[in-house]
Amino acid sequence: MAWSLKIFRFAGINVYLHWTFLLLLIWIVVASLSSGQPTAEALMPAWVILSLFGCVLLHEFGHALQARRYGITTERITLLPIGGVASLEKMPEKPGQELLVALAGPAVNLAIAAVLGAYILASGISFKLFPLFEDISQVKDGAGFVAILLKMNAILFLFNLIPAFPMDGGRVLRALLSINFNRAQATAIAARIGQFLAMGFVLVGLFSPNFLLIFIGLFIYLGAGGEATYEAQRTALSNLTVEDVLMHQFTPLHAWETIGQATAILLDGQEKEFIVTEDNQIIGTLSRDDIIKGLQLYGKEERIKQILNRDWVRLSPGMPLNEAYEEMSRKKLPICPVFDNGNLIGVLNQENIMEAIMIESAKRNR
Ligand SMILES: [Zn+2]
Repeated sequence: MAWSLKIFRFAGINVYLHWTFLLLLIWIVVASLSSGQPTAEALMPAWVILSLFGCVLLHEFGHALQARRYGITTERITLLPIGGVASLEKMPEKPGQELLVALAGPAVNLAIAAVLGAYILASGISFKLFPLFEDISQVKDGAGFVAILLKMNAILFLFNLIPAFPMDGGRVLRALLSINFNRAQATAIAARIGQFLAMGFVLVGLFSPNFLLIFIGLFIYLGAGGEATYEAQRTALSNLTVEDVLMHQFTPLHAWETIGQATAILLDGQEKEFIVTEDNQIIGTLSRDDIIKGLQLYGKEERIKQILNRDWVRLSPGMPLNEAYEEMSRKKLPICPVFDNGNLIGVLNQENIMEAIMIESAKRNR
């Protein structure tokens, strides 16, 4: 993601910070400093935000490290102003494992809140749990800092357990429903419950009026729909392998061909993505976008070898289509060659997969 900045790497996971988060921090510091308070006090809100995001980060590591126990890797964790995202390779399909991965994040916040609570009790700081939402600009000292951090972890814990996708609570709900239903049914039911809740949030938000509640409601509504679609696609592809949908007819390009020649081939047929060969070996792929971009940058005389995408993956005919789809989506690969015992037998592109989803869904919905 070009908008993110890598800040460090821990346990094999890269942690990225979205640049808008830095803007938020700068804005808070500037606003506090311009209020004319002594510097130490004025910087307090910035410390609160940084600590809060430290807690969000620990929450995401909770998910990632629990998933790792089941052999699932996490490519990255990204911190955004609205929270964190751990990009897990996939969610475990065993309900018990999904339950534990989903709960691991909120459990971290509960643990932090417990530690802070113990500290507050031991040190005799005065503490009132309500109001739960406090204005961070009112934090003046260490005691206020500890208190607000405890409240924020309590909010993170509760908020993430709302039983709706894309919240952790939605996954908890699906895992529990999976005891009685298959995964697609469980997802559909959990998504319905989530959307119902989301509409409730929006309605309450409209009448209170509370803008944050409306925002959360819309966020959940879209997230629930997305998860249901994703799972429906997975179900549609679940009985297919790469062999069922691959294309046997395709036009390979040669590395020495020019961008101009590639443009002509692009215009001449229906194909939008190509594999590129050199000495009878595949050395990369080329998409329509790559060709257009190459044409702008280098003109039509340049060889396509200069612009091809060298990040490609070979598929085998027996591979489950779901796995191929996930790998292609994750690595943003428009086309993949398919090899059978070392022989190139065809190619698979995103469009093939989309067609398979439409065909299978139509069959199921008859
Ligand atoms: Zn979470």
